[in-house]
Amino acid sequence: MDGEYVTGAGERRVEVRDPALDEVIVEQAEASAEQVDAAVAAARRAFADWSRRTPGERSDLMHAWVRDLREHEGELARWESRQCGKPFKLTTLFDVAGSIDNVAFYAGAARQLEGKAQAEYSADHTSSIRREAIGVVGSIAPWNYPLQMAAWKILPAVAAGNTIVLKPAEITPLTSLLFAESAARAGIPAGVINIVTGGGRSVGTHLTTHPEVNMVSFTGSTEVGRSIASTIPGKRLHLELGGKAPFVVFDDADLDAAANGAVAASCINTGQDCTAATRAYVHESVIDEFVAKTAAVIDTVKLGTPDDEQTDLGPLSSRGHQQKVAAMVERAVDAGATVVRGGHVPEAAGYFYEPTLITGAAQDSEIVQDEVFGPVLVVLPFSSDDEAIDLANDTPYGLAASAWTSNVYRANRASREIDAGCVWINDHIPIISEMPHGGYKASGYGKDMSAYSLEEYTNVKHVIQDITAVAKKDWHRIIFAGE
Ligand code: NAD
Repeated sequence: MDGEYVTGAGERRVEVRDPALDEVIVEQAEASAEQVDAAVAAARRAFADWSRRTPGERSDLMHAWVRDLREHEGELARWESRQCGKPFKLTTLFDVAGSIDNVAFYAGAARQLEGKAQAEYSADHTSSIRREAIGVVGSIAPWNYPLQMAAWKILPAVAAGNTIVLKPAEITPLTSLLFAESAARAGIPAGVINIVTGGGRSVGTHLTTHPEVNMVSFTGSTEVGRSIASTIPGKRLHLELGGKAPFVVFDDADLDAAANGAVAASCINTGQDCTAATRAYVHESVIDEFVAKTAAVIDTVKLGTPDDEQTDLGPLSSRGHQQKVAAMVERAVDAGATVVRGGHVPEAAGYFYEPTLITGAAQDSEIVQDEVFGPVLVVLPFSSDDEAIDLANDTPYGLAASAWTSNVYRANRASREIDAGCVWINDHIPIISEMPHGGYKASGYGKDMSAYSLEEYTNVKHVIQDITAVAKKDWHRIIFAGE
């Protein structure tokens, strides 16, 4: 924080473990309340200068940051793989490449703030819009994509002239620290980006409720997001929460494409992806063929450690999470569902779970309604387009969805009628720096990535200027007669 590494002074000690090997990588004390206060104070001091820099100056520094990150992408990928257990090909091609592209996008977007044209919307006044930085942002990130989530929170905030204090998830702080270190090397001033590490209830709560934090942006579970919202009434809040994405396969879909897509989208990041495909609704006339094809693709997926080039699927993030995923699948089976593939914890030191395909679950069962956050895909039938759309919308969540069809009218209907912040047609997962990511319903509000996110981190000010220069304005007659 404030441009320096400082050893945590909190009482609690936190372990960062390698989930592929079940080994401790580092063990350290979390930040104390006084250190969170100091980070917020550093961000407040830095705000005065940073918010007054021209967009061009901020952009130049962010371009320098891109260059520095490119020089260190191998190191970032290695540590992201180490602390998450992600296959090296995933961290290299997705986490790190995507995060660097996000920095490049916001380096450009910093110079592109938009608003209505300055004009005389009232004949007696000139109106203009100012978009102003909000102040100090307190951000909280989850453990599933630590680097990307840090990027999604930090970049729009600082591009718009805010300063930030980010708390990564306590089990995955390493790449957020490296990301901030790279920003410092690139010349972004001390205090603009501060990272505090530690637990949610301790460090997280102190940060979000801090009176000097003007805005809170949070990515994590719906439960914690709601609890934060209830503790900071009146504070600007941005919430990216849980998901339970439907994957709707109509009878005219390319079933090979759908089967490949279902496995890729349910196994990405070992299913620990808020937009992962979790519920496949498949037309009853093609469901058996879809299940057979999907099972055949699952049979090709290789579990392993991140450094093994053959590895497709890494472990889950923690022992506790592995137990949660296993217990949810067991309860689904107890309730009458059938495991077609997977459903086991394999013999290994790390927190692995087999890619799992389930049929025969009830729509209102836990495995269909609640986030599993593991490599588990449930397949259910539908018999009409109306029913497919109803089932897709039948959970509290609304983050992402996909529809698979060769019929343009069905594709249009699905994009219009599925309640989600993103609907893919004939694909599922790709994200793009230029386009927004964010939820409907219990998946939260606000957008990450894109110019929409930049706007979230600004206040819109209307400046309205009299152009008549008369002492008694025409509109005064609605209040008093006067002379
Ligand atoms: P989580 O809600 O348990 O924790 C998220 C973060 O909140 C962590 O840093 C944690 O330490 C912190 N936290 C916990 N309690 C807190 C409190 N009371 N005050 C302040 N901070 C607190 O989530 P997780 O298990 O780390 O991540 C998985 C969840 O994140 C899933 O629900 C997933 O869908 C969601 N997610 C959503 C998106 C999205 O863009 N919508 C992206 C990634 C993950």
